[in-house]
Amino acid sequence: MYKPLLVTAVVFFIALLNTNLSFAQGVDYSNIKGRVIMLDPGHGGDDSGAIRHGVKESYLNLAVALNLKKYLEILGAKVIMTRDEDRAVPLNARYDETANASPDLFVSLHHNDASDGFYQKPDFKNYTEVYFSALYDGGLENINSGLSFYEAFRKLHGVGSVKLKPGYFKVIRNKKVPSILMEPFFMGEEKLVRRAAYPSYARHEALVYLRAAADYFNKMKGDARENAAVQTAAIPSLDALSLETFDVFLNSATNEAFLKTAEELLNIAGIKAVSNGDNFLDDKNISAHYISKLMTIKDYFEPDMFSGYIEAIRSNSVGAKVHVSLSFDRSRPSAAYAYYRSDNGKKLCEKLIENFKTAGINLEFKPDSFYVLSSTSAVTAVININPDTAGLDTAAGRHNMFKVNMAVYSAIKGYLAKK
Ligand SMILES: [Zn+2]
Repeated sequence: MYKPLLVTAVVFFIALLNTNLSFAQGVDYSNIKGRVIMLDPGHGGDDSGAIRHGVKESYLNLAVALNLKKYLEILGAKVIMTRDEDRAVPLNARYDETANASPDLFVSLHHNDASDGFYQKPDFKNYTEVYFSALYDGGLENINSGLSFYEAFRKLHGVGSVKLKPGYFKVIRNKKVPSILMEPFFMGEEKLVRRAAYPSYARHEALVYLRAAADYFNKMKGDARENAAVQTAAIPSLDALSLETFDVFLNSATNEAFLKTAEELLNIAGIKAVSNGDNFLDDKNISAHYISKLMTIKDYFEPDMFSGYIEAIRSNSVGAKVHVSLSFDRSRPSAAYAYYRSDNGKKLCEKLIENFKTAGINLEFKPDSFYVLSSTSAVTAVININPDTAGLDTAAGRHNMFKVNMAVYSAIKGYLAKK
């Protein structure tokens, strides 16, 4: 008698909150009861996060989180907040608090920003990013948490497409807690930001989160759990894998042999370097664990992003301090790209630009927010060489790779020495 009554009450409550009945129809919210859920509204206090069109990200994050807290508590969850007012909380404190509380689910709530150039691109279309922790030790909870948030935002949020990505942000690095970091939309789009400033928007977004959390806890029960267990059975255990670290990770999107000489020279100079390859460290490195997890849900990722995910996971799994990625793309200019908020990325690019110039190749500096630039723990630079304009010997069918290798080697050596 008790349970049907509760479910009816919950469905009625959700229907009252939102005219869109699809939130409530056919969804079981009962598995939220008794769960410990930690909400982490991003930024706060002096750190406002993005400020666009007169709206502070830190306010918006908090407004959504406070609504979500209320809904979750009505459904019987215990909610812990990393902040429930407008104050600064360091990332390390958020991380430590998660470790102490050991919740059933951790959700960090943000809204996205990028460089002005990103918004000004004529083909800019807003989208949602769902980051699930690439570093979480479990297979099942990890993947299902990502999928639940991906599906709920795709069905109900109503802002463009949704991209599921492995994430390395400090707050979601806890290996024992299934952790999500959400970026529901980019704040560069004025119409959307102005709409989001109304309280009704924060309630709407909180309800999408609520649905995602319900789906996640439903997935962790019964048949769904067993199906997922079969899928993830082949994932190598972290204990059996190596944690060897390197100073430098080198990668070429086109051909891993392209930076072989730079790798050898760095190692001779006493700087531990490793480059990407099909049998990366004979698959004994911890990246084998993360990549196996990703493979079980490969269909949910954008295919052209997948090699970038693998690159970032490998770079991160060896704890690289410096990561240089090289491509030869005719559709892009010859350029050195760094994450737009990274001063060290800029310094590394300056070194690369200087050394490539000596080698006769001119690179522009371009701050950007590519996945590979923003997601690894290393200071990262992406070098693109446009073979048509870089004055490389394309007629003979080969690039002057020795010059490129020397430039990469000298730049990294110089960067690490000066730092
Ligand atoms: Zn943020």
